[in-house]
Amino acid sequence: MRLALPAFPVEGGCVCGAVRYRLSGRPRALYACYCRDCQRFSGGSHSMSMPVAAADLTLLSGETARHDKIADSGRTVAVHFCARCATRLWHAPARSPGVLNLKPGTLDDTSWLVPVAHVWTARRQAGTAIPAGALAYDGQPPDHAAMEAAFAAACS
Ligand SMILES: [Zn+2]
Ligand SMILES: [Zn+2]
Repeated sequence: MRLALPAFPVEGGCVCGAVRYRLSGRPRALYACYCRDCQRFSGGSHSMSMPVAAADLTLLSGETARHDKIADSGRTVAVHFCARCATRLWHAPARSPGVLNLKPGTLDDTSWLVPVAHVWTARRQAGTAIPAGALAYDGQPPDHAAMEAAFAAACS
């Protein structure tokens, strides 16, 4: 699998256009999550997460609001979304200070996005296929080391 990273910084924003943000550094990984919360949030089959350094993410305009949810893993995650149109923008996991899980579908250019791992596959819908040979976990991965290594390999 090949993943052609764009030149950073890149920008993104919400559906209504109020929130704009800049990502100034390379992400650590990119994975798809099939948990029930991601199905509800997206209204679809899954959502994607892109762990980035919090210091690399700058809010350029607009206002975000937050909702603290208990994830399927039992951990607390602060969900940040546009205060006007409610587009979900990034999660701040309590266990990983300094890391934000950007919702990469909000980037202006999404053409380069390829998830290198698939998590909570035990919860996935019947019509959702996981690519053969992909790094996949029934639930929450014990840590992100394997998916970070897969991401680095896909980008090299
Ligand atoms: Zn908005
Ligand atoms: Zn999820």
